[in-house]
Amino acid sequence: MARKGLAREGETIGVMVRMYCAAHHGDHDRALCAECDELLRYALQRLERCPFGDGKGPCSKCEVHCYKPDMRAQVQAVMRYAGPRMLTRHPVMGLRHVVKSLKGGKQPARE
Ligand SMILES: [Zn+2]
Repeated sequence: MARKGLAREGETIGVMVRMYCAAHHGDHDRALCAECDELLRYALQRLERCPFGDGKGPCSKCEVHCYKPDMRAQVQAVMRYAGPRMLTRHPVMGLRHVVKSLKGGKQPARE
């Protein structure tokens, strides 16, 4: 039922993959290259099947490594690149992510 947290995490990872792709694979702003499109699809699928449901923490802190190794390496590269930039480029979304990791509660208003 309560899968809102997962949807939000999916939204966040979508933004992160787009930022990473735009910086590394060209200057296209919306469309993803085939590789990143596949990565995002895979990530969203993992999220959907996450055994922790809405109670899950950030994937980076999760002890269940549900990604296959090559996808995991790619997603880590995306997180390393986009993670720190989320706070500056997407303040509301970045803040929301931080707030969620800190106390798992209260969302700021949507942008
Ligand atoms: Zn790409």
